[in-house]
Amino acid sequence: MATARDRPAGREGDGEGDGDGDDAAQKRTKNRDRHAVHELAGYKIEGVSVGGRETSVVLPALGVAFDSGRCPQRCVYADVMCLSHTHMDHVGGCGMYIATRGLLSLTPPTVLLPSARREAFGTFIESLRALDDSELNHRAIGIDPGERYAMNKLFEIAAFRTRHPVPSQGYVVYGTKQKLKPAYAGLSGPEIKRLRDDGEQVTDKVEVPEVAFTGDTTGDWIDDPANADALRAKLLIMECTFIDDAVSKHDAERFGHTHIDDIVARADKFQNEAILLIHFSARYKAEEVRAALKAKLPRALYEKCTPMLVGFD
Ligand SMILES: [Zn+2]
Ligand SMILES: [Zn+2]
Repeated sequence: MATARDRPAGREGDGEGDGDGDDAAQKRTKNRDRHAVHELAGYKIEGVSVGGRETSVVLPALGVAFDSGRCPQRCVYADVMCLSHTHMDHVGGCGMYIATRGLLSLTPPTVLLPSARREAFGTFIESLRALDDSELNHRAIGIDPGERYAMNKLFEIAAFRTRHPVPSQGYVVYGTKQKLKPAYAGLSGPEIKRLRDDGEQVTDKVEVPEVAFTGDTTGDWIDDPANADALRAKLLIMECTFIDDAVSKHDAERFGHTHIDDIVARADKFQNEAILLIHFSARYKAEEVRAALKAKLPRALYEKCTPMLVGFD
């Protein structure tokens, strides 16, 4: 199996392939919309994440985006926007996200966000409506840790508790399906149908945590037993803002962020198939991030971690 190291660390550009023969146009596109493309745990992931500047991570197959950042073009096609918190590097482009969906006649999006910021978000969008003279059709839903939003029959999104200077939360996307109860395993189709017609509950709901996203948080979110599903999700997208002693673990905690040492100290907790590390501080160069991950992460963890480094020199 290819390790994280064997995979491309992400590529810049518009993801539409090369060789259209118009270099200038390609370059313009790249400059307008630089984003990474990763393939991890069976999911294609697109986005850009630079601490303090912009974070938006998109899972096209799920139709979900985590944070709008400055609204990279890719996030526009996600029907559901999960906002981890309302710092500008995570939410600044949300008006653009809603407006662009309207412009392209896409269905009005659903925006999930911490309920403590639901009202302020409403005021934010109301101001944009007044400025833009447009409808900005969307549905904003405040949810709290432990609460769920059913996207459709196949997927549900749950919020989980994180810690940051403003109200914040992470999200787990669960894949759900109905499975026949073991007691009925030997029955034929018509027999099961008869039971069902009689009002019998013949199936159990089975769910699998597919993807988890932390947003900005101190590293101790990992210790909360209520957050266990995020550590079991096939793919975990996790902030790791600081990677060296220029900003200590203690300072990272004061700023409400995760230091790589927080992750190293909890290395045995991650049962995820793959981990995408995001939100590195803009102070670092890509090479420094790669070197720090290699030097500090225990090997088994290192093998499943991939850094999102578009936007770094
Ligand atoms: Zn941030
Ligand atoms: Zn923040």
